[in-house]
Amino acid sequence: MTFAKEVLCPRCDRRFPCGKIPNLCSCGSPLLVQYDLEKLTHAVKPSDLERRPPTLWRYREFLPVSDDRNIVSLVEGFTPLIEAKGLARELRLKKVWIKDESRNPTGSFKDRGLCIAVSMAKEFGIKRLAIPSAGNAGGSLSAYAARAGIEAHVFMPKDTPRANIIEVEKYGAHLTLVEGLISDCGRIIAEGKEKEGWFDVSTLKEPYRVEGKKTIGFEIAEQLGWRLPDVIIYPTGGGTGHIGMWKGFAELEAVGWIKGKRPRIVTVQASGCAPIVRAFDERKEKAEPWSDARTIASGLRVPQAVADFLILRVLRESNGTALSVSDEEMLAEIARTGKLEGLFFCPEGAATVAALRRLVEKRWIQPDAEVVIFNTASGFKYLDVFGSLFNLSSGGEVHASKNIVP
Ligand SMILES: *Cc1c(COP(=O)(O)O)cnc(C)c1O
Ligand SMILES: [Zn+2]
Repeated sequence: MTFAKEVLCPRCDRRFPCGKIPNLCSCGSPLLVQYDLEKLTHAVKPSDLERRPPTLWRYREFLPVSDDRNIVSLVEGFTPLIEAKGLARELRLKKVWIKDESRNPTGSFKDRGLCIAVSMAKEFGIKRLAIPSAGNAGGSLSAYAARAGIEAHVFMPKDTPRANIIEVEKYGAHLTLVEGLISDCGRIIAEGKEKEGWFDVSTLKEPYRVEGKKTIGFEIAEQLGWRLPDVIIYPTGGGTGHIGMWKGFAELEAVGWIKGKRPRIVTVQASGCAPIVRAFDERKEKAEPWSDARTIASGLRVPQAVADFLILRVLRESNGTALSVSDEEMLAEIARTGKLEGLFFCPEGAATVAALRRLVEKRWIQPDAEVVIFNTASGFKYLDVFGSLFNLSSGGEVHASKNIVP
């Protein structure tokens, strides 16, 4: 059972009942699920979790699915929080942890949101789902939809990393490659959904992906012994992670599982697509769309986010900051972090390392700070950004000829 009691608009405060299939509020804002936290407090306590399996479903009471039979799971979440001793030593920091999201079922943290969205679709009896995806979301939706026996329609820019395109096909989804960006894919879905009978699971156009993403915040708190770090650096695309984590922290405070200071939240974007950073620097409430978005970090190639004002609100409320890093810095950090920590980062994850380095240099992060960064997907999903084996464009040296036996 669930303790979800209603769905709330964070912009105009309008409320909707849980049993109705929601998209955006009539005012155009994303909606957020609210729980009866008073009742929830009496139903579960932190020590109950110790006996539960290591998946995001250990936070069952904080999730919106009513009937357990509707849970669609591939065993996701509760990814390790790995102490990055090499990085901490190099940057002379007290503690750095890497939340390694590459270990989710399809190799990225998109699984968290889509496992909840697909479970809710099953609960509502929805038969056809549609998603625009710049990369990993398409694979996640396709995998969970396959598992649930629901149709998935995925729209991706045609220059999306190959692994993402191939996995969508192998999970049996309907794939359309689009000449354009994720925003163009989103438009096709918005225009076709009425006629095609699609439920649109675009980032924050429904409230459930955020519910899955907030479990990252729960896990960080639990893994640190029900306390939070000083700084969290997150690679921001559509913003589900920011909004989800912040919402999760508020819920944990409301039930008394954590107290004290919240972390400062940092947004990292790519210098070729940084609408939130620009809006933050200009102290705007909303972000202008970014034109000519370009970056190898496909998860950050989001020129416009419907929840921009909520992301910016989190940055302000947390006393956080926003910065962008170049593709070259990401590639350099993939090689450096691989060597220092033995983890194969995706470009988006490497952006958090580059941001950490920059913020330490600027003394925005002090040496005694405890910092959490993310590897949001596996580097294996991005092999095409490294060029071909014989023409490695970045970092490592390859002596291919020596390894080839004719
Ligand atoms: C989607 C994605 C992001 C951005 O996450 P949001 O929650 O949409 O801001 C970052 N990294 C990777 C690997 C992604 O797939
Ligand atoms: Zn509203």
